[in-house]
Amino acid sequence: PIDVSIENVVKAFDDTPALHGVSLDVKAGELVALLGPSGSGKTTLLRILAGLDAPTSGRVLFDGSDALGLPVQDRNIGFVFQHYALFRHMTVFDNIAFGLTVRPRASRPPKAEIRKRVLHLLDLVQLGGLEKRYPAQLSGGQRQRVALARALAIEPRVLLLDEPFGALDAQVRKDLRRWLREIHDRTGHTTFFVTHDQEEALELADRVVVMSKGRIEQVGTADEIYDQPASPFVFSFIGESSLLPVTLVDGQIQLDGRPVGLAAPQGQSGTATLGFRPHDIAIVQDGGPAISGQIIAERRHGARRRLELHVGAEAHRAEIDVPADQGRQIGSQVAFRPNHWRIFPA
Ligand code: ADP
Ligand code: MG
Repeated sequence: PIDVSIENVVKAFDDTPALHGVSLDVKAGELVALLGPSGSGKTTLLRILAGLDAPTSGRVLFDGSDALGLPVQDRNIGFVFQHYALFRHMTVFDNIAFGLTVRPRASRPPKAEIRKRVLHLLDLVQLGGLEKRYPAQLSGGQRQRVALARALAIEPRVLLLDEPFGALDAQVRKDLRRWLREIHDRTGHTTFFVTHDQEEALELADRVVVMSKGRIEQVGTADEIYDQPASPFVFSFIGESSLLPVTLVDGQIQLDGRPVGLAAPQGQSGTATLGFRPHDIAIVQDGGPAISGQIIAERRHGARRRLELHVGAEAHRAEIDVPADQGRQIGSQVAFRPNHWRIFPA
C-alpha cells in the first residue's frame, strides 16, 4: 500500500467548479470514506485519482511522487463501480483474471500463477467453486464481490470503490459492508470508498471525509464526525436533526429574544445555529424556559411518534419525537428542551 496526498485539487467543468481546492492526506493502508450528497464531487475526485480525468489545477502524490503524469495503465489502481462492470460473456474466473491476462507479455504472470491467484481471490471473496459461472448466474451481491476480486487481482497500489453497494438492497449492503472491512483488514490496501450513506461511511471507514458542493467539510473518525460536527451541514447530514437560528446573550441561548433554558457555550455571543436530534429531547410541562412550537404534522416513526413543529415568530421548522402512546393534536402547542445540543457560530 502507498500514501496518497491530494493537494489543492480544483476541477472545473465548463465554468462551474466540481472541486474547489480539495486537499487530503491518506496514509498507506487506510480506508477512507468519501461521504456526501449526490453532486458533491466524490466521483470527480475518484476519477482524478484513477487518472481517468485530469484536474484543472493541483497535485496528486503517490508515496510522495507525482501521480498525474502517470498514464492510467501504469497507476495500478483497482476500481469497483456501482453498476457492475463485469464482462457478461466471460466466466467469473476470466473476469477476475482479466487485468492480469491483458498485461504485456513481459509483466504478465505465468498461467499457473494467474490461476493460483484467481482461486485464492475467489476464496477471499467467499465465492469458491463459482469460477465457471457467468455474471447472469450470480446475485447482485455476488457480482459486486467478483468485481472486487477483479480489482484486487492486479495487486493495486490504491483501491477506489465508487458506491459499490449502492444498487443492492439494504440487508445485502450491510453484510457486504462488514465483509469489505474484513477483506481490507487482511489485504491492507489504501482504499477510497465513496458513499452517500452516512451509516455505511461511519461504520466502515478509518476516517470519514464529508464533502459538500465540491469542498471537504470535515475529515475525522466516526466518533469525531458524530460528536464534534464542524458545521450545520455535517450535523444534519450524519443523522436526523433540527436546526434553529438563535442568539447567544449573557451566557444564554435565546430564540426570538427569550431564553430557552439552555446555556450558551463559554465566551460565545451573537447569532448562531442551534442543532439537536429529534429523538434526544425532553418535553417541558412546568412552564419554565423552553423551545415551544405548534404541531403542524405528526406520524409514526419507528418505536416513537415524530412531531413536526413550527417554532418561533418566523415559524422555523423543527422535529421532535415523543413516546408512541402520547399522540397530540395538530395545531396544539408543545414545549421541549434538547438533552444534548450543538451551537454553530454564524
Ligand atoms: P458525486 O459523485 O458526489 O455525486 P460528481 O463528482 O459526479 O458528484 O459531480 C460533481 C459535480 O460535477 C456535479 O455538479 C456534476 O454535475 C458535475 N460534473 C461531473 N462530471 C461532469 C462532466 N463530465 N461534465 C460536466 N459536469 C460534470
Ligand atoms: Mg458519484
